[in-house]
Amino acid sequence: MSAPPVQSSVLSFENARRAVEDHAARILLPGTETVDLLDAAGRVLAEPVLADRDIPPFPRSTRDGYAVRSVDLTNLPVTLDVIAEIKAGEKQEAIPSSLGSGQTASIMTGAPVPSGADAVVMVEYTLRQADRVAITRAVTPGENVVDRGAEAKQRSGLLDRGLRLTEAAIALAASVGKSRLEVFSRPRVAVLTTGDEIVDVKTAPGPTQIRNSNSYSLAVQIRCAGGQPVLLPIAPDEPRALQRLIEKGLESDLLLMTGGVSMGRYDLVEEVLSEMEAEFFFTGAKIQPGRPVVFGRCGAGAPARETPATYFFGLPGNPISTMVTFELFAHPMLAALAGQSPEKLTFLHARLKREIRIKSGLKRFLPAILSGEFENSEVELVAWQGSGDIAATARANCYAVIPADRETIAAGEWVAVLPR
Ligand code: AMP
Ligand code: MG
Repeated sequence: MSAPPVQSSVLSFENARRAVEDHAARILLPGTETVDLLDAAGRVLAEPVLADRDIPPFPRSTRDGYAVRSVDLTNLPVTLDVIAEIKAGEKQEAIPSSLGSGQTASIMTGAPVPSGADAVVMVEYTLRQADRVAITRAVTPGENVVDRGAEAKQRSGLLDRGLRLTEAAIALAASVGKSRLEVFSRPRVAVLTTGDEIVDVKTAPGPTQIRNSNSYSLAVQIRCAGGQPVLLPIAPDEPRALQRLIEKGLESDLLLMTGGVSMGRYDLVEEVLSEMEAEFFFTGAKIQPGRPVVFGRCGAGAPARETPATYFFGLPGNPISTMVTFELFAHPMLAALAGQSPEKLTFLHARLKREIRIKSGLKRFLPAILSGEFENSEVELVAWQGSGDIAATARANCYAVIPADRETIAAGEWVAVLPR
C-alpha cells in the first residue's frame, strides 16, 4: 500500500485535550426540535428561556410570622394591632393596601408582604393575644422578605442556549410556563470496531477470538453524552474493507473507531485514513491507558474535498483504553456537536487510602473505588491486569488521576479523581 506516512505527534494529556477543545469550540450548532418539558431533561437547550414576569412577582415572605414596619420595633417588646391574615395565594382584595404605624399582618411563607411593611418577624418571636401581638425581637429592613424581581426581572434571561438541562433548569423552565422546549438534535456517532479477532456478541467465539465489548461501552458513553450511537459492522484488519466502513462512518456527525491504532503490523487505521487524505491533529497522548489515541478530520467519500470533513477519533482497542479515551477526548467533541457550551474538564479530589507506586512518565487514569462517607471521601485503586481488564473496571466507580511526575503517592495524600 502506498499511504503517505503519518506524521507522529504525541502530545501531553493537557495539550491533547486542548486540541480537541479548540476544534470543538468551532463546531457549528446542530438542528433543533421542540419537545415536551420532561423529555427535555438531559438534552441541550436551543432557545434562551426568559422570565415571563418578575420573580418573585410580589415581595414574598420567606417565613411564617408577622409583616411589620421595622421602625416600629425599635423599643421592645412592642405590641401591634393585627389587621389581616395573609396566606400564600391570598386574593389581592384581601391584602391590606397599606400597613400603618403600629399595625401588623399575620403572614405565611410564600405570601405577599403588604405595602408599608418592610420585614417579617418569625412567629417564634411573637405572642398572639386576640387581635394584638407582642413582638420580642427586632428585624432589619428586608429581613425574611424577597423583593419583587429580586431573583429575576421580567424578560431577563434565565437559561442560555447550550445548557444541558438539569432538574433545576427544568424546574426553572416550568416556573416561567414553558411546557415545551426547543432542544438541539442529538448528533449521530458512528462506532467502528476493528480487528480480525473480534466477533459479535451473538457469535460463539473461537478459541482465539474475542467478543466485541467496545462498541457497547462506547454506545453507552455516547448516549450518556447526548449522542445517538450508530453501530457499524466489525471491520477486519484488511485495508479495503476497513476503508469502506470508515467511509460509511464518516457519513455520521462523528466517527469513533476502536482498535488498530497501535504499532502492530495489522494496526491499519491511520494508514487507511492517511490514504483518504485525513488530517491528523495528534496521534498519541502521554497517558496510560490510551497512549495511541488519534484525533483527526476526514472528508467522506470520493472526492474527499467535496463533502464537509467529519471529525474522528481512533481509540486504542484495549477496552479500558477505549472507555478512558472516550471520556477524556471524544466526550468534549460530542458535547459540542450536541450544541452544548464548552466546559473545562475538572477533577474532584479524595484522600488516597493505600500507597501507590507506579512508573513515572505518563499521566495515569487508573480504575479506582471512591468510598468513605460525607466529607470523608477516600479512593483506592482496584487491582487489575492492565487496560484489558474489564472485570476490574466494572468494580470501579472512578478513575484516580496520577500525575506523570510521581512514582510514589503516600496513603492520606489528596489525589484527583475522574468520576464515572
Ligand atoms: P488493538 O488496539 O487493535 O491493538 O487492540 C488491543 C486489544 O484490545 C486487543 O487485545 C484486542 O483484542 C482488544 N480489542 C480490540 N477491539 C476490541 C473490542 N471491540 N472489544 C473487546 N476487545 C477489543
Ligand atoms: Mg486490533
